[in-house]
Amino acid sequence: MILLDGKIAASAIKEKLKTQITQATEKAGRPPHLAAILVGNDGASETYVASKIKNCALTGIKSSLVRLADTVPEYELIEAIKKLNADDHVDGILVQLPLPAHIKEENIISVIAPHKDVDGFHPVNAGKLMLDQKGFIPATPLGIMLLLQHYHIETSGKHAVVIGRSNIVGRPMSVLLSRNNNPGNCTVTLTHSRTKNLPDICRQADIIVAALGKPGFLTSQMVKAGAVIIDVGITRVKDETKLSGYSLKGDVDFASVSQTAGYITPVPGGVGLMTIAALLTNTYEAFLNNTHQ
Ligand code: NAD
Repeated sequence: MILLDGKIAASAIKEKLKTQITQATEKAGRPPHLAAILVGNDGASETYVASKIKNCALTGIKSSLVRLADTVPEYELIEAIKKLNADDHVDGILVQLPLPAHIKEENIISVIAPHKDVDGFHPVNAGKLMLDQKGFIPATPLGIMLLLQHYHIETSGKHAVVIGRSNIVGRPMSVLLSRNNNPGNCTVTLTHSRTKNLPDICRQADIIVAALGKPGFLTSQMVKAGAVIIDVGITRVKDETKLSGYSLKGDVDFASVSQTAGYITPVPGGVGLMTIAALLTNTYEAFLNNTHQ
C-alpha cells in the first residue's frame, strides 16, 4: 500500500506557487489578495479559515477576513460581497460555508463575481466545468486531481466510483474524472444515498472517492485489491484522549482498507491539505487574470 500523502503533494505545489507568486507580484506591483468572509463563529469554520489565511501568508498571498455575526441579515452579507467585487485589489473571494439557516447559500454564491469566485461554486463556473471550459474548479475536487497527478496515478480507462453527489465535492469530482484529460478519462459511477448495491459497485472500482460524511463507512469488504482510495470525509468525533476533545475521522475505515488498497489517503493529512493547495492555485490564477499577466 502506498500512502497518498497530502502533506508532501501540497508542499510541492505551494513551493512552486511561492516562486511564481514572487515573480508575478513584482510584475503587478502588488501581491495577490484573497478576501474571506466568515459568518458566525462555528469551530470547524474558524479552523478552516485560519488555515487558509496561514497558507496564504506562506505563499505570498495577501489575505483579509471580513467577520459577520451569525445574525447578519442576508442583504448585509450580499452588500459585503458586492464591496469586494468592486475592489480592484481583491482577486479572490470566498464565503466560508456552511452559512446560518436563515441565509440561502445559493443567493450568496451567485452574487460573487465569477472571475473572483476562487471556490468555483458560482453557476457560471459550475457551467464551465460541465462544458470543459476554463473556469474555477471547486477546491476539493481540484485538489484531488492535483494529488492524482502528483502521484502519477493512471486514470485513463479506469472505473471510478464517487460516493456522494454534493455540488461542492461529489458531482464536480465525477465530471472531472470523466473529462477527456489527464488525470481523467475514467468511466465514472456517481453514487448517493439511494444507490442500490453500493458494496457491489464499489468492489468493481479501480478508484473510489468517498465523500459522504459518514465516518468509517467504506470498509475493506467494499474494496477491490489494489484500488486507489481517496477519503474526502472529515467528521469531528468525540475523543477524550485529545486536548481538543475530538478527533477527525474520514469516510474510510483506514485500518482495514489500507490492507486491501493499492493507494490510500490519510485523514487528516490527505485531501484537506490538497483543498487548500487548490484554493491557493485558484487565487493565483485569479490574480494573473486580474493583472493581465
Ligand atoms: P453533503 O452532506 O453535502 O453530501 C453528502 C452526500 O453523500 C450526499 O450526496 C448523499 O446522497 C451521500 N450519502 C449520504 N449517505 C450515503 C450513503 N449511506 N451511501 C451513499 N451515499 C450517501 O456532504 P459534502 O459537503 O459533499 O461533504 C462530504 C464529506 O466531505 C463531509 O465529511 C465533509 O466534511 C467532507 N469535506 C471535506 C473537504 C476536505 O477538504 N477534505 C471538503 C469538503 C467536504
